[in-house]
Amino acid sequence: MQAFLENNDDLVLIVALFGILVVAVLAESAFPRRAEPKPLGYRWANNLGLWILDQINVGWVAGFAAVCVAWWTEGKNIGLIGAYDLSFWPCLLLAILTFELITYFFHRALHTVPWLWRIHMVHHSDTNVDFTTTFRAHPLELLIVAPLTVAIVVLLGFPAIVMVAYQLLRQTITIFAHSNIRIPEPMDRNLRHFIVTPDFHRLHHCSDRRFTDSNFCVAFPLYDYLFGTATNKPFRDHAAIQLGLEYFRDPADSRIDRLLLMPFRRQPRYPGELDSLAPASNPTVMPGS
Ligand SMILES: [Zn+2]
Repeated sequence: MQAFLENNDDLVLIVALFGILVVAVLAESAFPRRAEPKPLGYRWANNLGLWILDQINVGWVAGFAAVCVAWWTEGKNIGLIGAYDLSFWPCLLLAILTFELITYFFHRALHTVPWLWRIHMVHHSDTNVDFTTTFRAHPLELLIVAPLTVAIVVLLGFPAIVMVAYQLLRQTITIFAHSNIRIPEPMDRNLRHFIVTPDFHRLHHCSDRRFTDSNFCVAFPLYDYLFGTATNKPFRDHAAIQLGLEYFRDPADSRIDRLLLMPFRRQPRYPGELDSLAPASNPTVMPGS
């Protein structure tokens, strides 16, 4: 089994991805959290079209380079992990803690560095959030992430099987976190201590900047709790909050050519310009409150 996973890691990830997408479509139509403007085809076509472009250009690098490099470094004693005889589970835990920490701070940088925000706001400009939003990322964002991921994998030398497991886990939870699925309140209150739930991540896509700059984790919320960036809203408020940005709200802005040009267009606002609108009170609250 392990040998099969290691030799067919790209195939495993692709098959798993399509399985997850089928489940997401069925779950969103059976248990919708928010009413989405119909028809969905325009948004879905542009979001998924952007994803296909990402895959053609740099997606393979971002998604699988880490696995490939881990495969290459394994047994060569290049990485730090190779120096210790760690079994699968401690190694997977270490991979989660390491990569989630890196992506947490990278995500914060995407929100605070103006030129990075120009790229990242393509993801945030979706005025509705569902599983297709997961794939709405500008190719430049993946181009920046890929070398960082590869460098960490080479430095730490995680085994290929651990990287496959981590990618599968992260991919599944990230799609779940973006999905428009209604999770019962008691279940959400418990689940959000361990993984990012749709209600937890939806606030990150709220057009109110105080909430956009919170809940940065997309799979495991540990570091949002640790660094005080976790926010929450009452369960009933989620049906009415405005998603997306305060600008780029015209449906035509979600057309794929405009998404690709968005970072280079004249912007009405940068993150720093909204500082004067920031409230005096800190909206950060702990889960379940
Ligand atoms: Zn973000």
